[in-house]
This record gives sequence, structure tokens and C-alpha cells, in this order.
Amino acid sequence: MQSVDPFENVIEQIDHAAKYADCDNDIVKTLKSPQKSLIVSIPIEMDNGKVEVFEGYRVQHNNYRGPYKGGIRFHPGTNLAEVKTLATLMTFKCAVVDIPFGGGKGGITVDSKKLSEHELKHLTQGYIDKIFDLIGPDKDIPAPDVYTNAQIMAWVMDEYSHIARRHSPDVVTGKPLENEGSLGRETATAQGAVYVLIEYLKTKNLEPKDISIAIQGFGNAGSHAAEILFSLGAKICAIADSKGAIFSQEGIDPHIASAHKEKTGSIKGLKGTENISAEAIFNQKVDVLIPAALEDVITLKNADKIKAKTVLEIANAPVTADADRVLARRKIDVIPDILANAGGVTVSYFEWVQNRERYYWTEDEVKEKLEKKMTRAFLDIYEFAQSKKIALRDAALALAIERIAKSTKNRGILN
Ligand code: NAD
Repeated sequence: MQSVDPFENVIEQIDHAAKYADCDNDIVKTLKSPQKSLIVSIPIEMDNGKVEVFEGYRVQHNNYRGPYKGGIRFHPGTNLAEVKTLATLMTFKCAVVDIPFGGGKGGITVDSKKLSEHELKHLTQGYIDKIFDLIGPDKDIPAPDVYTNAQIMAWVMDEYSHIARRHSPDVVTGKPLENEGSLGRETATAQGAVYVLIEYLKTKNLEPKDISIAIQGFGNAGSHAAEILFSLGAKICAIADSKGAIFSQEGIDPHIASAHKEKTGSIKGLKGTENISAEAIFNQKVDVLIPAALEDVITLKNADKIKAKTVLEIANAPVTADADRVLARRKIDVIPDILANAGGVTVSYFEWVQNRERYYWTEDEVKEKLEKKMTRAFLDIYEFAQSKKIALRDAALALAIERIAKSTKNRGILN
């Protein structure tokens, strides 16, 4: 599925950004390989009585700032290189928003849409059984990612609690509210990205109501981002999901698009819009392009055709390293994933704190704390970028590297 090794991509980005970080080169070396990678096989008895074996992964990249933290992805294209990449990004993301976690990630190579609910539950339980020794409330805390959701996290909590013989809501975040999830978690990634975009727009004397948007991916992160931006007056001109894409010069109401997708299984064919090719989402004439689906979608093949002035990376690693250079040359700002989508892990952290306190916050409290974290993170990175005259991605990575390096040094690791 991917033409470039996503892990090579992230290593290239680290090497590039490290030049701007005030830290010892040895720590940078340690950040270029995960501390632990586990591959497991999970046999499941399917509804038809036959056994199928699925491959799963858990990668623990770095825990010098706190327990590993990162989602679980169910996708047919998931492989070890992808999970390693995403685990690495999590270490930097947690440092960017300054929460006391390191980076991890998990995944199973599976087309989960083809599994029944019963099969999905057994697959989740089998996976947790296999990675049980690695995870734990003070060790490694999973969360949802592509094609996993709150229900799956409830099964994760239950299976872990069952094996540990201890009620353990703090072993996983992104749980349903009825199972000690946090208010505001469902929309956290999108909301966090919007807080960051608002701050970025302020630097250009703009507001959301002044901008038009094209968005790729209309799942948890993408659809909520479209809805929040629409509510702030932004014009959503184009939307793509895995089945196709639509465009309207007048703008699309994302609530109507969601209802249409719910009814028909796709956003294609929405009344008042034009069907466009999936690839055409990248060359629409809009102010902000938001990749919110999978990685490596903006490559050398399409980076030259992008007409947006800004790319807001809600997806993880949607821009390849070489495409990033093309965008920089073309003066297209990229608000990097480790900042733009860090709202999800920030509210995951809030959920973990609430689970440990056994005391739950209101939605307004969660949103207020999230806004503070995201605004602070944006301003730190923006000021760093301005002072060194570098791109926001380099600034975000360099700042994260400095924070990880300081914590590593203080602990006496590597010196
Ligand atoms: P999701 O499973 O809810 O949605 C994924 C969306 O992508 C779906 O609409 C799907 O149709 C679409 N999609 C898949 N393949 C596509 C393709 N080839 N072309 C166009 N659209 C395609 O997943 P999500 O949770 O919304 O995650 C989306 C991205 O955001 C991922 O990169 C994920 O790692 C990142 N992210 C999510 C969160 C979160 O809290 N949900 C947090 C941080 C980062």
C-alpha cells in the first residue's frame, strides 16, 4: 500500500529537526529506534467455525518522560513499520503538549469491517491476552486509533482487568462514558486541532469564518473537525472518505454529509455536491487542506498540485519527508501531526488522571484544560519556529527532542 517506508520517513524528520535542538547527539540516537517491539499471532474461531490467525503488534518507543502511550489500529494495511512509525510520533507528541507520557502504538492487520461484533470482541481479547505483560496503568496505556473505538476499548479494559484480577480502567483510554471514559474524549482530537488552527490563523489576522477547507477522512477525527469548523463559520468545500469524494463551491454541511454517509455507507452522491475522484481532494482551491485519514497520502506525486496555503495534519504522518520539502519550497505551511492531532492524547491523559482520582470532570472543564494545553503548545512551537526561522514541524520536533533530552539527562540515563 505504501511506496515509502514510513519509519525511514520519520527518521529523516528527526535527523533534520535535531539540528535545531539544544541537546546531546546521543539522546537523538536513542530516539531513532523503539525500546521494544512485539509481534504476536492471534488465532480466532470465526463464526463459521473455521480458525483464522491474525498478526498483531505493540511497539514501545520511549518511556523516559513517563509510561508508553498510544492507540491500537485495526487495518488491513497495518504492519510493523507503520506501528513503529506511529509509536515514535507518540513520544514526540506527548512531549509537544508536555504530558507525562512516552510513546507506544499497537495494531492488528485485519479488515475489521468484515468481522462480526463477536469475532471483533474475540480478536481484541486475544490481542490483549498476548500483550498483557507489556501494558498496564503505569507501563503502557493503549487508546483508540483507525477502525477501533470506545466499544473496543471497553473490551480492552475488561480483558486486562479480568487477567489482572483487578478493576483497571486506567489501563486504557477512549472508553465509553459508562465505563469511566472522559467527557470530551470523542471530539478531543478534532477540537484540539481546531484550537491550534485558531491560534495559527490569529498569526495571519484570520478567523475560521474567513477560510475554506478540503478534508480527507470522515471518521472520528475528520467528521468532528468538519463539524466544529463549520459551526465556527468555515466553508467545508470538499470531503473524501475511503469510498470517494465530494465537492461544493457553496460549501457542505458536515452534519448532512454524516447523515448521508450513515444512510448510504458513503459520502458520495450527496445532494447539491459534485462527485470528484479520491485523489482530487488534494488539488482543490481551498485555504486549508486537512488530511484526516491515513499516512503517506501527500507524496512527490501530488505535493506540486496542492493549492491550499496551509496543511493541517490531523492524520498521523500524512506527508512524506520529500513531499514536506516540496511544500516548504512552495511556502505552504504545514501544521504538523504531533501538534495538530495531540488533542486526542491530551484528553486521554485527562481520562487517565480522572480514572486514577476516581473523580470526573465536566465537559467544560475538559475543554477549558484542552484549550490551554493546545494553545500553549502552539505558541511554544510558533515562537521556537520564528526565533530559528524554521518550519513548524522542525520546531515541534526540536522542542520535543529538547524536552525528552532534559528528562533523560536528569534521570541519569546516558551519562
Ligand atoms: P476513523 O477510523 O474514525 O476514520 C478514518 C477515516 O478515513 C474514515 O472516514 C475512512 O473512510 C477514511 N479513509 C480510509 N482510507 C481512506 C482513503 N484511502 N481515502 C480517503 N479516506 C480514507 O479514524 P480516526 O480516528 O478518525 O483517525 C484518522 C487519522 O487521525 C489517523 O491517521 C489517526 O492516526 C489520526 N488520529 C486520530 C486520533 C483520534 O483520537 N481519533 C488521534 C490522533 C490521530
